[in-house]
Amino acid sequence: MPEVVVDGVHKSFGIVEVLKGISMTVERGEVTALIGRSGSGKSTLLRCMNGLESIQKGSITIADHAVGPDRAKLRALRRDVGIVFQSYNLFPHLSVGDNIMLAPRIVKKLGRGEARAIAGEVLALVGLSDKVESYPDELSGGQQQRVAIARSLAMRPRVMLFDEVTSALDPELTGEVLAVMEKLARDGMTMLLVTHEMGFARRVASTTVFMHKGRIHESGPSRQLFDRPQTPEMAQFIRSDV
Ligand code: ADP
Ligand code: MG
Repeated sequence: MPEVVVDGVHKSFGIVEVLKGISMTVERGEVTALIGRSGSGKSTLLRCMNGLESIQKGSITIADHAVGPDRAKLRALRRDVGIVFQSYNLFPHLSVGDNIMLAPRIVKKLGRGEARAIAGEVLALVGLSDKVESYPDELSGGQQQRVAIARSLAMRPRVMLFDEVTSALDPELTGEVLAVMEKLARDGMTMLLVTHEMGFARRVASTTVFMHKGRIHESGPSRQLFDRPQTPEMAQFIRSDV
């Protein structure tokens, strides 16, 4: 079974239907890019996958967890599914190391030594081994976002969801964050990423899904999609966004 299975998902806010029957899968170890105009429903879909939003119709299964309202099941789901947003939301009063150790210590009840070892490992992975004692405000935006990714990885997730993690960064800091995601992809992490970085999506994601007005308008192998878009909407989107 794929790591992510979204089947016929409908989501409304009040009377406004934002997701109008979304079905997609992500296989284990695969990277899928989710692209589309602002307001097309990308963030809402990611939030539904992590149980941050409820759905009205359809089903979502992710890392063998059926997403639903049950709180204990949601906690189990969130242990296996990491999500990183545009805003990194690190705790400013905690060092980088303590930010990363927090969830392993509290949620997984690991001892300090074990949590510290994991923090060292994930910081090495994002290239910030020397920042374990630093505080967030001593770091650049790109470094803070890499810490946020490391913090998520410290829970040893099976699936990572990324929602425009480079959109708030200055262009010169975008590359270092994309490089971390590319490394994760190479290491076999199952990832679903919302991005405006079209070159990155084309190169790193095996599959790209183009959302338009709450529906999947076009999807397929990334190269094919970017090189030969089948719909005028997708063609126009990549022209205006590149
Ligand atoms: P995207 O991430 O593709 O830009 P979103 O998923 O954020 O799109 O938003 C899709 C639509 O849902 C937009 O019209 C947005 O205004 C609406 N929306 C998102 N979140 C809420 C909310 N909490 N309440 C009401 N409407 C929302
Ligand atoms: Mg969004």
